[in-house]
Amino acid sequence: MKSPRRYHITTFGCQMNKADSERMAGILENMGFECSDDPNNANLVLYNTCTIRDNAEQKVYSYLGRQAKRKHEQSDLTLVVAGCVAQQEGETLLRRVPELDLVMGPQHANRLRDLLEQVFDGNQVVATEPIHIVEDITKPRRDSRISAWVNVIYGCNERCTYCVVPNVRGKEQSRIPEAIRAEMEGLGQQGYQEITLLGQNIDAYGRDLPGVTESGRHRHTLTDLLYYVHDVPGIERIRFATSHPRYFTERLIRACNELPKVCEHFHIPFQSGDNDILKAMARGYTHQKYRRIIDKIREYMPDASISADAIVGFPGETEAQFENTLNLVEDIGFDQLNTAAYSPRPGTPAAQWEEQLSEEVKSDRLQRLNRLVSVKAAERSQRYLGRIEEVLVEDQNPKDTTQVMGRTRGNRLTFFTGDLRELKGQLVNVKITQTRAFSLTGESLRY
Ligand code: SF4
Repeated sequence: MKSPRRYHITTFGCQMNKADSERMAGILENMGFECSDDPNNANLVLYNTCTIRDNAEQKVYSYLGRQAKRKHEQSDLTLVVAGCVAQQEGETLLRRVPELDLVMGPQHANRLRDLLEQVFDGNQVVATEPIHIVEDITKPRRDSRISAWVNVIYGCNERCTYCVVPNVRGKEQSRIPEAIRAEMEGLGQQGYQEITLLGQNIDAYGRDLPGVTESGRHRHTLTDLLYYVHDVPGIERIRFATSHPRYFTERLIRACNELPKVCEHFHIPFQSGDNDILKAMARGYTHQKYRRIIDKIREYMPDASISADAIVGFPGETEAQFENTLNLVEDIGFDQLNTAAYSPRPGTPAAQWEEQLSEEVKSDRLQRLNRLVSVKAAERSQRYLGRIEEVLVEDQNPKDTTQVMGRTRGNRLTFFTGDLRELKGQLVNVKITQTRAFSLTGESLRY
């Protein structure tokens, strides 16, 4: 009996890539492939790649090298590179790794079946031309049975001068509200409790969809979408990411405060605390505007969780301008801050600029920022001590199997003693007994 074909997907990068990989896995299983945890035991190996920083891009080449060698011994091995490096490099990748069968950009994730059929007909395929992303009927093979990603808008029309995303993920394409709601209804029926609505710039949701209101605003916005999907049966929690300060509105904040299922956690990258750097980044807001947004959120939801992204060492950034970033972090007190040193990316304006800083200066600033971030996060965590927090149980604590783990509405990772078989997927009230910078420990009020 012919052994089943097996596939293995390695995913690099952001939530958008993770969601794309889940959809591609669903398509492969729909084609009769079985999942293999070991790439060396798979007939089809797919790397879903990231190019946000140089080190992310370089990673895939070392993986590819090994599989390309394997292909010389195993001719029925199919090698696929998907995601942002595929889009950025296209044909060049085939010259660099001639053993590749398929190079496909993120917009083509839903077309994996068609593209593989061309490969199985003996072709080497490159799919990176801009296309309209069609709704995919295949069920994604999701990693979690508790919380799920739901794409609401693909691509980005912004032009942040350091960012490669618009070049590799293309123009904004919003899904229609009915398709998003239908996907969420399906997930609710399957027992999913939590949904994260995804978009590179989720505040741009709907502006490419037809229709304006009498007052002239877009008929479809993220705020309207939240009201439209809020009553989907079975879904207890709704999150969304990634926000953009340029388009963040009080109307959205009011909706989040009003809608019980929308979690009080906001992920709003600020990138720099200095207005001249923000201008050079073409972010389209000032640090003062950013601070007003956070103040407004805390006016409506004083206990809301705030996370963000920040870049240090942007071309030309002076010590004083870096200190403006430290000041903003000091003043706001983030629950979590993803930090990175500036990495020049192909095809982005800032990569051409003269004033590139040395790796020493960049890593020195990154360490100083990370130290401050941990101090502030630990301070912020203390507010949970002694409080009752609702935790959605997702898994076992890998470090202590007597404990389970999950997230609060504020997206804080929390550990407590409990039986995963009984508690997985449950919303449990937990009394917080210990706080750390980025996680909490508590006692379940069930026992
Ligand atoms: S908003 Fe800016 S940083 Fe974010 S994906 Fe778009 S171009 Fe990149």
